[in-house]
Amino acid sequence: MTPQEVAALLAYMGRLDPRSVRTDRAEARDQLAQWSELLAEVPATTANGWDAAEVIRRHVTTSPYPLLPVDVTREWHTHARDVLGRHVDPPPAADPDDVTSWRAELLGTRHAVVTGTRPPNEQRELTGAMHADVAARLAELGRYIPPAVEDVLDQFRPRKAARRAAIKAGKPDALAVPCTYCKAEANSPCTRGAVGPDRRRGPRVDMRQPHPCRVEAAAAARLAQGVAA
Ligand SMILES: [Zn+2]
Repeated sequence: MTPQEVAALLAYMGRLDPRSVRTDRAEARDQLAQWSELLAEVPATTANGWDAAEVIRRHVTTSPYPLLPVDVTREWHTHARDVLGRHVDPPPAADPDDVTSWRAELLGTRHAVVTGTRPPNEQRELTGAMHADVAARLAELGRYIPPAVEDVLDQFRPRKAARRAAIKAGKPDALAVPCTYCKAEANSPCTRGAVGPDRRRGPRVDMRQPHPCRVEAAAAARLAQGVAA
C-alpha cells in the first residue's frame, strides 16, 4: 500500500472505530508512518478478492480490541496462501540453465497470481484433445520421414519413388510380395545376374523395375485380400 492508500484506510478505520483516531498531529503522523512501513508489502485491493478495508470492517464487527497493522498483514498472508494453494507453477519459459531468469520468472508469476493480476493456474495435468498441429506433427513423425521430405528424397531413389507412386495410384505394390523368379524377398528389389568384364558371372545387381510375374503376384495378393486391383 502506498502512504496515500494507508491514509485512506486509517480514515475508514477512524469512521468505524473512533478510538483509533489520533487527534494530535504528531501522533497522527507517527501512526501513518508506522502503518505505511508495516503494510508496504500488502496491497489495498486485488483482482482476486482481497480488500484491506474489508479486513478492518470485519475486525471492528468481531473484536473489542483496537486493530493493529499485524491484523491486516496476517489476513493478507492467509489470503496469499489460499490463492497460491490453488496455483500450480507452470514451467517458466526461461532457459532452465539460466537459474536467475528462471527463478525470477517463477516468482514473478507467483506474485502476479497472489496480487490477482493473473488467475491461478489450476491445471494439474494435460487434459483435453490433442492440438491439431501436435497431432499432425506426431503423425508425420510416426511415418519416420515427413511426407514432404520423402517427396524431395524420391528424386534420388527412383525405385522407392516408383513404389510410392504405385501405392498412391492404387496399383499393386510389387515389392510387398517376394519374387518367385529371382527369389528376391519382400521389400527387397528384384535382382539380375551381371556379367563381369572377364565374362565371369559377377554379383547380382538390383533392378529398377520388378519382374512382371512379381507385379502379377502382388495384384493377385491384393485381390485375395478383397481389394480391387
Ligand atoms: Zn524378381
